[in-house]
Amino acid sequence: MLPEQALAAGRWVKLICGASNQDLAAIEDLCGIYTLAGVDCIDLAADGAVVAAARRGMAWALERGAPPPWLMLSLSDGADPHFRKAWFDPERCPPGCPRPCQRVCPALAIGTSAGVFEERCYGCGRCLPVCPWGLIEERDHQLAPPAVAPLLRALQPQAVEIHTRPGRATAFAERLAQVKASGLALERLAVSCGLEPATAEHDPGLGPIRPERLAEELWQRFALLRRNGFKPLWQLDGRPMSGDVGAGTARAAVLLLERILAMAPPGPIQLAGGTNGLTLALCQGLAKRSGRPRGGAAGVAFGGVARRRLQPHLLKAQRRQTRLLDDRELVEVALKDARALVTPWRTEDGGHL
Ligand code: SF4
Ligand code: SF4
Repeated sequence: MLPEQALAAGRWVKLICGASNQDLAAIEDLCGIYTLAGVDCIDLAADGAVVAAARRGMAWALERGAPPPWLMLSLSDGADPHFRKAWFDPERCPPGCPRPCQRVCPALAIGTSAGVFEERCYGCGRCLPVCPWGLIEERDHQLAPPAVAPLLRALQPQAVEIHTRPGRATAFAERLAQVKASGLALERLAVSCGLEPATAEHDPGLGPIRPERLAEELWQRFALLRRNGFKPLWQLDGRPMSGDVGAGTARAAVLLLERILAMAPPGPIQLAGGTNGLTLALCQGLAKRSGRPRGGAAGVAFGGVARRRLQPHLLKAQRRQTRLLDDRELVEVALKDARALVTPWRTEDGGHL
């Protein structure tokens, strides 16, 4: 099934590698395994080295008969946790600190005595509040406007995603113009948005966001996409950067879908933010209430949960000093774990849950 057909059938699955994740070895392995597991799209940081690593992983899977997924590059129209990295100066850490920052980091981006390994940090933010001395800062990691068009032309993605927030229509239009200037004929222009307001700096009068306001903002984005000849794909970000795998985080995106579906502009809606292995069952519950297949969801994106499933195998590969994709035993177990997440969405009845 081609990606467009998967969207139409409500069976689209996207792997999110992380808009600021630059861990090249892990990205190559993740992309190889999840391409072979059947994802329709891989969402990556807009970075040449990251795309090259992803393409190496995808090529490995294509050699084994997998169809090529779309390559989607993520941009943002303003401050966004997906586009930040943590930073601290390890020289300032008091001796004897029990290093809670290292313990909470899901990406193993903080070493036993070093600071943050920048390429591994994907900005989840868990380390930020745990330092008893407040030494950890967040640093923005965005592309400068003049860099967007040439980079997209060089990297040739099939899709681009712009992370936006209510209150940032003007900034969105500017980012969109930079994408348009690349001249690329994209399959889809994805818009990622949730109920989080823009910062006061963008819209000082903005209160808490209601679904009606979000729908209004999506209609504004829709008008811009149409005017510029882009086909939309709406990514509802239920709980951005939650990194959790529980029912609570999965419910946030499905609840948002339920509240916004009747008001949303045309185009497929895909869930993200806290999505996990429970998301499909929740969509099936919504399908019963709404009478719409999969509750109206065209598909799902898996980020933290997809990475976490493969983490033990990636670590084993690291210890064996090999690429996971070159270790037959690890490929077998990693593929089984990846398929357990992807296959239920790809099958008509949702597979066995
Ligand atoms: S906890 Fe999150 S933000 Fe902090 S270093 Fe690890 S990945 Fe980066
Ligand atoms: S918790 Fe703070 S002081 Fe301790 S190692 Fe981490 S950054 Fe340094």
